[in-house]
Amino acid sequence: MRFSILTIFPELLESPLQEGIIRRAIQAETIEVSITNIRDFAVDRQSMTDDRPFGGREGMVMKPEPLAAAIRQTGGGEEKGHVVLLSPQGRTYTQEVAEELAARKHLVLVCGRYEGIDERVRAYFIDEEISLGDYILTGGELAAMVIIDSVTRLLPGVLGCSDSAEKDTFSRGGLKYPQYTRPRIFEGHEVPEVLLSGDHARIAEWRLIESVKVTRERRPDLLSKMIFSEAEMKILKKQGLM
Ligand code: SAM
Repeated sequence: MRFSILTIFPELLESPLQEGIIRRAIQAETIEVSITNIRDFAVDRQSMTDDRPFGGREGMVMKPEPLAAAIRQTGGGEEKGHVVLLSPQGRTYTQEVAEELAARKHLVLVCGRYEGIDERVRAYFIDEEISLGDYILTGGELAAMVIIDSVTRLLPGVLGCSDSAEKDTFSRGGLKYPQYTRPRIFEGHEVPEVLLSGDHARIAEWRLIESVKVTRERRPDLLSKMIFSEAEMKILKKQGLM
């Protein structure tokens, strides 16, 4: 899968691509990430990528010509890219959206800065706008990185089977069960006995029940979205959780 990032601060994105799972995915050629400096497409001698807004008011707006040229160059080619503008006005990013994006071959991630981008680029060059949430970032770069990170871990072969994405929070609609590692007793607090039992059926049942309890306690809004098999429903009903 290809990610093309368009930004005026390319260096901001370099280090997150050089660590851990993302670095390995690049090395394995599961993903290819290119970073394009929008400034390289500036049309004036000062390499300006922003200008004052028409109609007055403070702040600067990203100029249309460099952005449009950068999108045309990186988004075209054999696999036309799906052009995403990171924007607080977009649809809210969720695991479901990540899954949707993971099915695409090429994402072009446009990072805004200042007061945002010229409306004509938004209207005629952008396929969709995505927001990380109802708050304002200084730029789209961190949001682009969140998308690359969360989409990449969904691609086949990126995660080992031990930390498969299928067992993650949200993968079945709710939150994941609590997890423990050594030591068995930490500052007087013990690991639940069942996890030491070696009884895989009991452990699976405990995890199912805990996952529902945690979801009910912390994110009750997700409960109705959780998906269970018939056998799991039986267990939950017996526990009075359904
Ligand atoms: N003036 C804009 C407004 O009120 O909608 C906010 C501009 S913000 C300071 C600069 C850039 O950061 C935006 O163009 C966008 O690319 C990015 N950004 C800010 N908040 C974001 C969010 N919640 N999700 C995704 N990108 C965001």
